[in-house]
Amino acid sequence: MKLEGKTAVVTGGSRGIGRAVCIELAQRGANVVFCYASGEEAARETLSLCDAGRAAGDTGKTCMARCDVAKAEDVKALMDFAGKTFGRIDILVNNAGVTRDGLLMKMKEEDFDRVIAVNLKGAFLCMKEVSRLMMKQRYGRIVNVSSVVGLHGNAGQMNYAASKAGVIGMTKSMAKELGSRQITVNAVAPGFIDTDMTAGLSEEYVKKMTEAIPAGRIGSARDVAQAVAFLASDLAGYITGQVLLVDGGMGM
Ligand code: NAP
Repeated sequence: MKLEGKTAVVTGGSRGIGRAVCIELAQRGANVVFCYASGEEAARETLSLCDAGRAAGDTGKTCMARCDVAKAEDVKALMDFAGKTFGRIDILVNNAGVTRDGLLMKMKEEDFDRVIAVNLKGAFLCMKEVSRLMMKQRYGRIVNVSSVVGLHGNAGQMNYAASKAGVIGMTKSMAKELGSRQITVNAVAPGFIDTDMTAGLSEEYVKKMTEAIPAGRIGSARDVAQAVAFLASDLAGYITGQVLLVDGGMGM
């Protein structure tokens, strides 16, 4: 799964799964351009971890930029920067995501809109920007980060579930649109992963969730990153339009 000479753009790389993806791709030799929303300090840490993880003699580079994926002008600037710096974009990982949980009766309209704007529209904007370049290159690997919640739903996460189900629909549609240009588009659907996003959950809830996972443990960001690296590699060249569950068997 070597990625030398490839350039990857990863959204939401400052923390959690996105950070692990950046490190995984850098370890395999890719140039990595990642963005963050506001966590500059955390982003700098990701940058150092990527550089520290590179093999001796690896000439790959890591760059970071601030970008709100819900804003078209930010996304354009990010992709222009990556394209101009490295001449091509081979891999796009749409990872940036947020939650604004609440039961339907209590969910504010802005909580619905923001989750859709970041998780769903953000992925749309990023794919739209890179697809032109990837079509010209006749090569591309797009990996969208969905969730098991997008497949099964979850009480209190109607907005999030809608965004993640939408990501799956977009993934399959884009796979059909871009397939003939040697561009694959796949999704990963993580289960319960240990990151800031799940850090606020009660001990009791975490225990109950863990008991329902056949693998008997909560997933790590690296578990997801390794699956993303596979789908981003040449080993997965004939896999497209798929949703790979990275959930320890939870979603069976
Ligand atoms: P996290 O720890 O909360 O990290 C979220 C990342 O997204 C951060 O880097 C954050 O940047 C960035 N981000 C948020 N809003 C953004 C925006 N508008 N524009 C650009 N970047 C933005 O989350 P995570 O758990 O790693 O989740 C990563 C992805 O996996 C998400 O799509 C999430 O829905 C999905 N997922 C997670 C789990 C889980 O159990 N953790 C399960 C299934 C799916 P800042 O640091 O600047 O805020």
